[in-house]
Amino acid sequence: MLSKPIMKYLEQEEAGVLSSLLAQAGIDSTVKRQGLPRIFGGISNYQVQIDPKNTAKSKTILDDFKSRSAEIRAENLHRLTTFCPSCNSQNIYIVEKTNPLLKIFYLGVIIHKCKDCSAQWYT
Ligand SMILES: [Zn+2]
Repeated sequence: MLSKPIMKYLEQEEAGVLSSLLAQAGIDSTVKRQGLPRIFGGISNYQVQIDPKNTAKSKTILDDFKSRSAEIRAENLHRLTTFCPSCNSQNIYIVEKTNPLLKIFYLGVIIHKCKDCSAQWYT
């Protein structure tokens, strides 16, 4: 049974990479999409499941994967705070949450906006 989630909240691409790394080590896995919607662009919703008996065997692969995906996420975050994701402009700014409703709605989220194309995104 491929029923043990070893990694959650992955991008679809990340989940695919992890799954193929496991396959290379002879560990079967399944990528499962979670029902949660995508929130604020950064958090995603795939998980990789394995047979619980392969837990120990998958540990090294998982640790490598985690440190690598942390690097990639840090790079992505850096990009999202430097460039507009829609037009690549560096003419971007952080939206002040002056409205109390904005503060509540975007709690823990930074709102970025592009001066060139008016795109808005969150980190
Ligand atoms: Zn833009």
